[in-house]
Amino acid sequence: MRAVEVSRQEYRRLSEEHDPTLFQETGGLRIVSTEEGEHRLGPQRERLGSQKVDARLLTPREAGALLPKARLDGVRAALYTPHDAVVAPTDLTLLYGRLARENGATVESDLGDPRATWNGGRWTLHVGELEASSERLVVACGAWTKGVLQGLGHPLPLAPYLTRACLVKAGHPKVFPWVHDSELDVYLRPFPGGDVLAGDGTELKEVDPDHLDPSSDLPFLENVAGFMERRFPAWASSSVGASWHGICTSTPDRRPMVGPVPEAPGLFVLAGFNGFGVMRAGAVARWMADALARGRWGDLREVDPGRFPRPYAPFEPRPGFTLEP
Ligand SMILES: Cc1cc2nc3c(=O)[nH]c(=O)nc-3n(C[C@H](O)[C@H](O)[C@H](O)COP(=O)(O)OP(=O)(O)OC[C@H]3O[C@@H](n4cnc5c(N)ncnc54)[C@H](O)[C@@H]3O)c2cc1C
Repeated sequence: MRAVEVSRQEYRRLSEEHDPTLFQETGGLRIVSTEEGEHRLGPQRERLGSQKVDARLLTPREAGALLPKARLDGVRAALYTPHDAVVAPTDLTLLYGRLARENGATVESDLGDPRATWNGGRWTLHVGELEASSERLVVACGAWTKGVLQGLGHPLPLAPYLTRACLVKAGHPKVFPWVHDSELDVYLRPFPGGDVLAGDGTELKEVDPDHLDPSSDLPFLENVAGFMERRFPAWASSSVGASWHGICTSTPDRRPMVGPVPEAPGLFVLAGFNGFGVMRAGAVARWMADALARGRWGDLREVDPGRFPRPYAPFEPRPGFTLEP
């Protein structure tokens, strides 16, 4: 939760300084339509409150007032977090790259897969014409981290899995809270330019990111269409501007892996965000950079990559936060 908050503040600052569309404080609404769902909201509010996150239980009428286009029939309750925000992740990533360059870093992309070798107490990376050498190497390749570490002879228990999102041309210029419908299992958020972004379609099985054979996007889009008809009928006939799948990475205990790779001198990993990496990346990357500079891992020890007993057993990917039951 601290990583989320520190990242939130950093993204807001970057947005204020560089581009107002990078970060929007929209608030967030989790809506539930079953008794069991309603029972979950109280403990969730307490957990968030214990971390000093402003979280309020709302009646369906109060929730409806925040989502004027929504039809909330059957909804029993909602949990409102007024300071939640949404970001434009691609633009944010490009901004980090630009700022890194301006501060003296060398940033290269689209060079193909680098080859890494450990020799004489140093890592050397070869890619195309380039060669770089360092005492330390950080593998932060998202879904490809598992394969890269395996290739280096230092596997870790990671499971890449597939998830989906789409942009709906809603033509809705106003900001509204992101909303997650627990029972229909779809989330929706405003997107700059009047679109709305809808997501889920997560497939809870491990995939190989180099040999993807994803099932069609159609069931996902049908599910989103059903959700729109049920909850946002004003947008039900809007066209889909884009739809895509991407790969996230799960760990056995749903906590990231950030730190030294066990028994691998000079090798570090930053991966395994279980589908929630954007909201923690700013803080975690900074903490890791500080730890590498000072050699003190502090609170990051909680996500030490060496915490898993060997041999590593296969496991089912499970997105989410360990804050949830
Ligand atoms: C549809 C969808 C919706 C999502 N929604 C949210 C959300 O609402 N909130 C949230 O917090 N998170 C969300 N996520 C998850 C989030 O995108 C990830 O957790 C996050 O991007 C992980 O960051 P990362 O830097 O570890 O990996 P990535 O962002 O995957 O970056 C890894 C990079 O490494 C590069 N790479 C791969 N192999 C190599 C190699 N051999 N050498 C060099 N580079 C390599 C890749 O090209 C890539 O650019 C979503 C993901 C998807 C797909």
